[in-house]
Amino acid sequence: MGRLSTLFAPERVAVVGATDSEGSVGHAVTTNLLDSFAGEVVAVNPNKETVLGLPCYDNLAGLEDPGSVDVAVVVVPPTVAVDVIENAGEAGIENVVVITAGFGETGSDGAEREQRLREAARKYDLNLVGPNSLGVMSTPVGLNATFGNEMASDGDISFMSQSGAFITAVLDWAAERDVGFKDIVSLGNKAVLDESDFVAEWGDDPDTDVILGYLEDINDGSSFVQTAREVTQDTPIVLVKSGRTDAGASAAASHTGAMAGSERAYEAGLDKAGTLRVESVQELFDYAQILAGQPLPDGDEIAIVTNAGGPGVMTTDAVGDSDLQLAQFGDKTFSRLREEMPDEANIYNPVDIIGDAPAERFETALETVLADDNVSMAVVVACPTAVLSFEELSERVVEQQERFEKPVAATLMGGKSVDAGANVLSEAGVPNYFDPARAVGSLDALRRYREIRATEYEEPTTFDVDRERAREILESGARRGSNRLGVEAMELLDAYGIPTPQGDVVSSPVEAEAIAEEIGDDVVMKIVSPDILHKSDIGGVEVGVPVEDVRDTYEDLVVRARNYQEDATILGVQVQEMVDLDNGVETILGMNRDPQFGPLLLFGLGGIFVEVLEDNTVSVAPVSETEARGMLDDIDSAPLLRGARGRDPVDEATLVETIQRLSQLVTDFPAIVELDINPLVATPDGVQAVDLRLTLDQEKL
Ligand code: ADP
Ligand code: MG
Repeated sequence: MGRLSTLFAPERVAVVGATDSEGSVGHAVTTNLLDSFAGEVVAVNPNKETVLGLPCYDNLAGLEDPGSVDVAVVVVPPTVAVDVIENAGEAGIENVVVITAGFGETGSDGAEREQRLREAARKYDLNLVGPNSLGVMSTPVGLNATFGNEMASDGDISFMSQSGAFITAVLDWAAERDVGFKDIVSLGNKAVLDESDFVAEWGDDPDTDVILGYLEDINDGSSFVQTAREVTQDTPIVLVKSGRTDAGASAAASHTGAMAGSERAYEAGLDKAGTLRVESVQELFDYAQILAGQPLPDGDEIAIVTNAGGPGVMTTDAVGDSDLQLAQFGDKTFSRLREEMPDEANIYNPVDIIGDAPAERFETALETVLADDNVSMAVVVACPTAVLSFEELSERVVEQQERFEKPVAATLMGGKSVDAGANVLSEAGVPNYFDPARAVGSLDALRRYREIRATEYEEPTTFDVDRERAREILESGARRGSNRLGVEAMELLDAYGIPTPQGDVVSSPVEAEAIAEEIGDDVVMKIVSPDILHKSDIGGVEVGVPVEDVRDTYEDLVVRARNYQEDATILGVQVQEMVDLDNGVETILGMNRDPQFGPLLLFGLGGIFVEVLEDNTVSVAPVSETEARGMLDDIDSAPLLRGARGRDPVDEATLVETIQRLSQLVTDFPAIVELDINPLVATPDGVQAVDLRLTLDQEKL
């Protein structure tokens, strides 16, 4: 068992701040504990002799054997809370649930108090929940250490929530729907224990089948990814993440920065962590129920059995919207259906056994399709008719589901008439919905979870690179006093094996001409200035310059830069070999550092299409080869790279390797805050990084 097991399965719980004055939090917590907790409850409050019939102690130290208290629940005023936690630590108590509010959520005094609380917890190595928490519950021991108004019923789902109010709402909702829980924790301000700790705990807990979370943020993205990845191999994690924000994006200087906002970082991070992310509370519990109640499918082919044409079509549409496939039946299935079903029935998927179908016909059809090896799961869609008993249908559905051990969901479309059948299904763990799209969505979640479980995590490749050279380039940028580096830092890419065109940055027309002669062909010339972010916007890029025009072009570029900003710092002009754009695709490869998840890579269609088409994808670095290739697969224009319309496909292997090499670069140098290679030209013969822009955090160098 994990290190938090006594938090959820205590034998002795002390309430510090217990009171019998009704309407207070201390009263609610004490009553809730007394109501159902199987162990001993101890009351602590210096102002009381007794509380709700319990003898009351002045402080934790005054208890007989205070060290045998497994959990101290703290409901004292904020000004004394830290002292109480010190006392708990002193007394040898390991688990503390701080319900008291008035910490980080209330401004600078509170934040300072939270800091002291954190220090006290560290000093005594306390497992501290909260502060500002509703409390914790655990059904096997009847533990309700919360001030909510309802206790959870038994189940296999463990649930953490950053909102206490949401827990009370969920419990009320769950009571009507037979949704049960193992443990529940209100995370509060997450001063000490956070989502990663509970994911780890429940991953080790044999009684937790599904982990659910409502999160507003994640304390430490990388540790969450590490922990969740491991846990999700055995226990699915379903999350709602609220509180989306674009604030980070508006402050960004690069394309990547603007496109990879924090919402996308969460998306990529939670995906990398192997969690199932949902958008709504309904989905959260739909997924939880089916994951807890049904086996995983061994493929993604679904069979539909229905007595109604319209709903059958709706279900088929929902399959089309999902990542499931309509199963293609084998010959045996067809011949049996032909034999057993009426002539008017449709024996092709979706199987329509028509309106006069009794429960028995449903069963035969379901049995036949589930027996087919090409069918991995089924959905039964039934509309009420005079000849159909939903209860009998449900019993037969359950029987066939259990017999074939393939996941089944039901859509009993009706109101009151559904209840008896729905109960039969629910008891057997077969989910039932009114809306066929929800049934299909839930089955699709099983498919997705199977995919997550099958994921093999490979280590990112480490390439042989010149790290020292890269450091020198970054440092020389820093020495110039600039946080913004451009094409003058192209060698940074060379140092990490990312190909760049031949060329150099020079500071006179004569030198420019010499470089052009060396290149021996028409060249591209670009103004180099930390004050000019988008060079072509101000006429700072000239493509296809013949050698004889190089000197004049140099002067022109400088004049244009001066016209744009008189006092711009001009480092010179870059003279660069031409890259064959006709045979290539301009892509963008970049990175933006996210406060929670760290370096976020972005890959997509580049050049002038960047903002117009916004066809790109993000991934948390470092990425493995498979993840890098996945980024390529992810963009809509992937066919363009793979040779659509008679073009030659680009050198995909080098492109994938370049993504991995950039991943290594930004992982090696936390000082790079954001970086854009736009365009990275991909051709059949390889890739060329034509442009570079990055922002440095000098303190991290
Ligand atoms: P910026 O993004 O600051 O405007 P770039 O260096 O990206 O400057 O150049 C703008 C565009 O010019 C590129 O998107 C590309 O289409 C073209 N270009 C730049 N360098 C080259 C090159 N070496 N060969 C061919 N085309 C180039
Ligand atoms: Mg560019």
